Amino acid sequence: MRKSKFVFVTGGVTSSLGKGIISASLAKLLQARGYSVTIQKFDPYINVDPGTMNPYEHGECFVTEDGAETDLDLGHYERFLNIPTSQANNVTTGRIYQTVIENERRGEYLGKTVQVIPHITNEIKRRMMLLEEVGKYDIIITELGGTVGDIESLPYIEAVRQLRWELGQDTICIIHLTLVPYLKAAKELKTKPTQHSVKELQELGVQPDILVCRTEHKLNSELRKKIALFCNVNQNAVIESIDADTIYDVPLLMLKEKLDKVTLAKLKLPSRNEPELEAWKDFILRVKHPTNEVTIGLVGKYVELQDAYKSIIESFIHAGAENDCKVNIKTIHSEMLTPENAKEKLEGLDGVLVAPGFGSRGIEGKIEAIHYLRTHNIPFFGICLGMQMAVIEFARNVLKLPEAHSTEMEVNSLNPVIDLMEDQKEVSQKGGTMRLGSYNCELKKGTKSFTAYGKNKISERHRHRYEFNNVYLDDMEKAGMIAAGRNPETNLVEIVEIPKHRWFVGVQYHPELKSTVENPHPLFVKFVKACMDYSEEKK
Ligand code: GLN
Repeated sequence: MRKSKFVFVTGGVTSSLGKGIISASLAKLLQARGYSVTIQKFDPYINVDPGTMNPYEHGECFVTEDGAETDLDLGHYERFLNIPTSQANNVTTGRIYQTVIENERRGEYLGKTVQVIPHITNEIKRRMMLLEEVGKYDIIITELGGTVGDIESLPYIEAVRQLRWELGQDTICIIHLTLVPYLKAAKELKTKPTQHSVKELQELGVQPDILVCRTEHKLNSELRKKIALFCNVNQNAVIESIDADTIYDVPLLMLKEKLDKVTLAKLKLPSRNEPELEAWKDFILRVKHPTNEVTIGLVGKYVELQDAYKSIIESFIHAGAENDCKVNIKTIHSEMLTPENAKEKLEGLDGVLVAPGFGSRGIEGKIEAIHYLRTHNIPFFGICLGMQMAVIEFARNVLKLPEAHSTEMEVNSLNPVIDLMEDQKEVSQKGGTMRLGSYNCELKKGTKSFTAYGKNKISERHRHRYEFNNVYLDDMEKAGMIAAGRNPETNLVEIVEIPKHRWFVGVQYHPELKSTVENPHPLFVKFVKACMDYSEEKK
């Protein structure tokens, strides 16, 4: 008897149909029915992980507790399920090939020609089933990145075909997500793209069990019947996925469409109890009917691309709901911020978050923004590079060290207030070599951070190379910027605060990676609250 059942989610017709959200929503429903579920994502690109990719290519890079740099869909999985993912939950073609090539060099296939089939597909299958070894998951959902029909997806589809053959029909359920477009001129929804995309899968030997149809209009029963007939699925397995107001509505929409029940029936698992979703519904109610409203600036250099700051934006939704407050986000391009226009761009805002980032583009704008916020007592929240820029701003303008900089931007800075740690100086490889994953931090009593967390020992996820330079700590603290949180093992400064300011908190780590619907991040919650208080005070 196997320990786990497997659900595979493929996508057809076009990208950006929301496979990640559908997978996370199904997982949520199964979890709410009492099943233990996890989700993994397989991405068909050749990068070993998305860590070296520009956000313009791939959106935000999500980081797991154990330090994997992953696809941003893992963020959705964690936010929906409230359980952490790990290294094993995101696999790329690059990673698969790396393993196979390493095996080959070790001589594991000695005498054999190493080929896509069976060697690459075997490694894909091994990785697809790896999480079963954890021993605690009833159902493992695997989202296959890319679109069926792409050359690079072929080995993955073949692996799924083989697995179904090897493990049997009842162990695997295949869900195919497609598009049912509406043709305005014809005033009709069109099923042909779905038929073609299913045919494409069938040609590869894979028959989907369930079709999730993305659509802007309701699917009537005639249409469902037609899709069922032409695509060889049951009519109740044609699931409508209509555009939703918020991604958090999708689990409830899928519940109405019985995606969870149909999946369980396919896997020959009992439906058990009706899903327990009271807290989820309550959260949505608060998202949709807030009693307060604030406008928070988001200063970054990738602001034209929504996905670049995905987790930050979602964290504001969680923290907003917790405060019964709608958080409007006003994005501000850091390259467009100058000493001349900082006032005009920032003065009306209730608070500002300065975003993470790499490289020097836009940093002077970030420093300018922080200067304005600090000197005008406007709530400020700096994350990673945002925190580093706050330290530079303070050193330049309060400690009067005009040369203060990060050695990331200026290698020979006279006052390297942000610098590389010794063990990073030896590192020359770019991929997977930053300070990554979860580290402990100890908070100073009486600080805003301590109040927010309500305890003094925390752990948070990191993704950076540069650090606060402790040589400057004494002077900084005397001048009014304190280390509110430090790593107990290395003494690295993880949080800076200005106690005299209404709310000025900069964190070296990424709190946005741990905010979930069930557990909104305390710093985001308190930052939104500080913005609400400031907004009230201004009235
Ligand atoms: N570029 C900075 C560093 O590597 C900050 C990174 C970040 O904001 N994630 O330290």
